[in-house]
Amino acid sequence: MDNASFVARDLAVLWHPCTQMQDHEWLPLVPIRRGAGVWLEDFDGRRYLDAISSWWVNLFGHANARISAAVAAQAARLEHVIFGGFSHEPALLLAERLVALTPPTLRRCFLADNGSSAVEVAIKMSYHYWRNVGVAGKSRLINLSGAYHGETLGALGAGDVGLYRDPYAELLRAPITAPSPDAYDRQPGESAADVAARRLADMQALLERHAHEVCAVIVEPLVQCAGGMRMHHPSYLTGLRALCDRYQVHLIADEIAVGFGRTGTLFACEQAGIAPDFLCLSKGLTGGYLPLAAVLTTDAVYDAFYGDYASQRAFLHSHSYSGNPLGCAAALATLGIFADEPVLLRNRALAAAMARETAPLADHPHVAEVRQTGMILAIELTQDKTTRAPYPWQQRRGLRVYQHALAEGVLLRPLGNVVYFMPPYVIDEDEIALLARVAAAGIDAATA
Ligand SMILES: *Cc1c(COP(=O)(O)O)cnc(C)c1O
Repeated sequence: MDNASFVARDLAVLWHPCTQMQDHEWLPLVPIRRGAGVWLEDFDGRRYLDAISSWWVNLFGHANARISAAVAAQAARLEHVIFGGFSHEPALLLAERLVALTPPTLRRCFLADNGSSAVEVAIKMSYHYWRNVGVAGKSRLINLSGAYHGETLGALGAGDVGLYRDPYAELLRAPITAPSPDAYDRQPGESAADVAARRLADMQALLERHAHEVCAVIVEPLVQCAGGMRMHHPSYLTGLRALCDRYQVHLIADEIAVGFGRTGTLFACEQAGIAPDFLCLSKGLTGGYLPLAAVLTTDAVYDAFYGDYASQRAFLHSHSYSGNPLGCAAALATLGIFADEPVLLRNRALAAAMARETAPLADHPHVAEVRQTGMILAIELTQDKTTRAPYPWQQRRGLRVYQHALAEGVLLRPLGNVVYFMPPYVIDEDEIALLARVAAAGIDAATA
């Protein structure tokens, strides 16, 4: 089969995510028949460098030999088993490993099957905790402006990206939204740490007024990814932890996108020296192989649910595929690579290469900022470099970069006006140089 015949059949029956399907009347859908490392190959034999880790999930390349072998071996042994009342070795080993790798206060691991579910688990556990310990009325969330926590109704309700949220506003509970510590919003003369301090004061004011009705504050540590790869100073997280303790609300760290080495440390919270009450993990957890998620929490939370059956304090949440053994096996193989190879050290060199190769873009007349946190590098396009005015969304400038890059054999998928690299960790420096050349040419073409 070639691309054209595949696409005709695909568009006749499939409905793709995050897509206005009519776009495919003029924007080719790209069918992929195989992947290897950072490369994807379509049905016409064209290759694409996957610069966005296939929506931020892939860590060690497509068709990674070690992870593929682990999944195949697990499939031959046990593909799935009910996880209520029954258990299995991959889940046990994974929970032990995650508890060991995360901050010492996080000692319990609850498994779900995608990022949005993990967020909903954390929200439900937090709310239910306060009920179980006899503190009434704590049913609201505080989130940050520009936050993204997934797309099922509960997770969408915790987010603040209008593009995804607004059509469903009537179905969603309104959180209390605190201004993001996003360093892009800094005033002249302000540092990223200054913005963090200013936004902590805003958060404190909200907590002062609302803590009695709030169960948790939910944040994406260090980088608000779907909101446009907006980055903040780690001191915000340190200060936020202290505020949450002081005002008796939980801190939910959504590390679904930033966990597993993306920001330079295994988990982003490490850079602030903090432990959240709930840590949500997914995406890279399985190296990009299978949908799986984990929520890590404290003994204090776990103990509040523990008791006589008749006390009705148990956490009854479940998914059919909770703790799926294939997903757990992929996750164990992924963590095995972290254990056996100097991944974070290698990423430091790769991150430096990304910075070096994109440095000239900072002077581009339509680039407002090139920013980076570890293995995430973002280039913010602007109509006007002095005012930083964004291009109107209707102009779809980022989409033009996408089209240009595809023609050059690179998969970049900008978020509105933000072009970003979030590549698998097996990319090499020549491939990074290629990426930067293609992005620069694409930005020239899209802003001409
Ligand atoms: C992707 C993402 C989610 C949702 O995960 P899904 O598996 O797509 O449901 C939640 N939070 C953050 C920060 C994410 O980037």
